[in-house]
Amino acid sequence: MQYYSPDSFSSAAEIASKAQGSIRFLAGGTDVLVQLRSDIFTPDTLIDIKKAEGAKSIERTEDGGWRIGAAVAGAEMSEHAELKNEWPGVVEAVDLIGSTQIQGRATLVGNLCNGSPAADSVPALVAADARIVVQSLSGERIVSVMDIPKSPGKTNLEKGDVVKAVLLPTRAERSGDAYLRFIPRSEMDIAVAGCGVWLQLDEQGVVSAARVSLGAVAPTVLDVDAAAKAIIGTKLDDAALENMAAVASSACNPITDRRGTVEYRTHLAGVLAKRAAKIAYTRAGGSQ
Ligand SMILES: Cc1cc2nc3c(=O)[nH]c(=O)nc-3n(C[C@H](O)[C@H](O)[C@H](O)COP(=O)(O)OP(=O)(O)OC[C@H]3O[C@@H](n4cnc5c(N)ncnc54)[C@H](O)[C@@H]3O)c2cc1C
Repeated sequence: MQYYSPDSFSSAAEIASKAQGSIRFLAGGTDVLVQLRSDIFTPDTLIDIKKAEGAKSIERTEDGGWRIGAAVAGAEMSEHAELKNEWPGVVEAVDLIGSTQIQGRATLVGNLCNGSPAADSVPALVAADARIVVQSLSGERIVSVMDIPKSPGKTNLEKGDVVKAVLLPTRAERSGDAYLRFIPRSEMDIAVAGCGVWLQLDEQGVVSAARVSLGAVAPTVLDVDAAAKAIIGTKLDDAALENMAAVASSACNPITDRRGTVEYRTHLAGVLAKRAAKIAYTRAGGSQ
């Protein structure tokens, strides 16, 4: 195995595009190193991105959003008061990943690019309308998070692509986000279902815009537009919430495994959607 530790993302992209055989990037390593040490997968080329310029920083963007470097650990996000205040749902999703030790390493980008359908931060990022900055030999491009997952364990990134950062938009006035998941144990398990909700209110407290995203209930994350539409124009009354839950459940296409059956996951998706929507509504300043 060849190990590289480039000081820029353009060098990382160059190394990746020229490499023969299998490649992995090393961000926090909480997926890559586990696979390597347990002989599940050893890449021919391992490119550590932690020393690449900008990889470890959380910065305010010119338009008032955030740029989170690809090697920023979940714990660093949780300790960033301003980020947490503006995007509590994204931060609480990252905060759920593993244990304190895992959070000291695990990144948003690794969570996304590992390709797990149950990745906790991904529904929260989709609900937040997050984008990622991808560097390749031909330059930089900005891609929606929703466009990255392809199938379990696979992404739509091409050979030579490396993710530089995650971009969160400016937090709109009277908006809020939330992420909830359900796991069979009290901690350190993978989601049976997860739900991210973002919504915005008008001056009367009526939902004027929303996004509802589900994890662990389909081969890839779901952006359930019909569930968002079910709460737009409402003050999240019971009927709207029940309607949203039914629509969210009907969008699911899960598997049965030892953590939960198809029926259980489908039911949970609706329950979590209702609860996450209520939290996001309160965070947006609404009262029920
Ligand atoms: C004990 C334990 C508990 C866990 N609990 C959870 C949990 O509760 N929820 C959850 O969602 N996950 C969990 N995980 C999985 C893991 O911690 C997360 O997926 C984590 O976010 C991965 O981030 P990382 O930075 O460690 O990724 P890495 O292991 O460094 O990389 C993961 C993948 O992303 C790719 N990658 C990394 N950086 C880039 C880049 N810049 N550009 C392109 N591709 C890149 C790598 O090639 C690799 O395929 C757990 C893991 C362990 C070991």
